[in-house]
Amino acid sequence: SEEILQVENVKKYFRIGPNQTVKSVDDISFSIRKGETFGLVGESGSGKSTLGKMIVGLHAPTSGTIRFDGHELAGDLDRSTRKRLNREMQMIFQDPHASLNPRMRVGDIIAEGIDAHQLAKGKERQEMVYALLEKVGLHPEHAQRFPHEFSGGQRQRIGIARALAVKPKFIVADEPISALDVSIQAQVVNLLDDLKQEGNLTYLFIAHDLGMVKHISDRIGVMYLGKMMEIATSSELFEEPLHPYTQALLSAIPIPSPRLARKRERIVLSGDPPSPVNPPSGCRFRTRCPYAMDICKEEEPAWKEVRKNHWTACHLYHQ
Ligand code: SF4
Ligand code: MG
Repeated sequence: SEEILQVENVKKYFRIGPNQTVKSVDDISFSIRKGETFGLVGESGSGKSTLGKMIVGLHAPTSGTIRFDGHELAGDLDRSTRKRLNREMQMIFQDPHASLNPRMRVGDIIAEGIDAHQLAKGKERQEMVYALLEKVGLHPEHAQRFPHEFSGGQRQRIGIARALAVKPKFIVADEPISALDVSIQAQVVNLLDDLKQEGNLTYLFIAHDLGMVKHISDRIGVMYLGKMMEIATSSELFEEPLHPYTQALLSAIPIPSPRLARKRERIVLSGDPPSPVNPPSGCRFRTRCPYAMDICKEEEPAWKEVRKNHWTACHLYHQ
């Protein structure tokens, strides 16, 4: 089906000193289809949030292009198109506490986008807010309260209502459940999934853990130190992971099926990822990879479609 988002050779470098550059996102290309949930996974420092922010236009790429609905975000867009794209792409943040203004009533927080985009006024605006609160499992009376009166899970629901208020087409959810109690993580994921079915939405769902995105993602991308390591459908990634890093991430998840357990070798990741300031030469994963070869130090593995719709960057698959 139709692609709603195209990311081409996107880089984001931050200069942090005279001779030091963080290659936070380093030459990533992929696309997302309309109606898809794309899970993006990586440890902290992998660049996944930076990529998410560039995709909704909060950061400009250092180079490369991002196209949404056929429009290049960094291009010359007329005012009304720019405004429409700003409305159609929304972001849900990791920390529902920090992202909600503590001095604003919940109703006004949710209505901010409605006001900015002049979607409704007066009674109609109020009714939109009430309907949004109900849609995310809260109550219309909650509109009068302040963020601190709610639990973490409820605050994330408020953040979701705020994003939905402007009738987006595409939502980047940046670790929306990582800060929540495990007991309510599934509720918030299920809510996002239900809202997607009702609202013709497309998601980029960012998480640090593959288990969190498994059930909701159609496809999953795995990032490591600013690079995309692998992209496949969710089922193929779990059953036939190609990249040693993906295999390592999966080794950390309990395996329910003995058939998969036999197929999957256990790779245990030791230590933290190296710094993105001076990443290893060649393959960035080589310092933690049990299969590293001489070539892995010298040459960066190319990003290749190794099987149909299954991409990876690893020298093991290049012979
Ligand atoms: Fe390991 Fe080499 Fe593949 Fe990198 S390219 S993941 S070091 S085998
Ligand atoms: Mg992050």
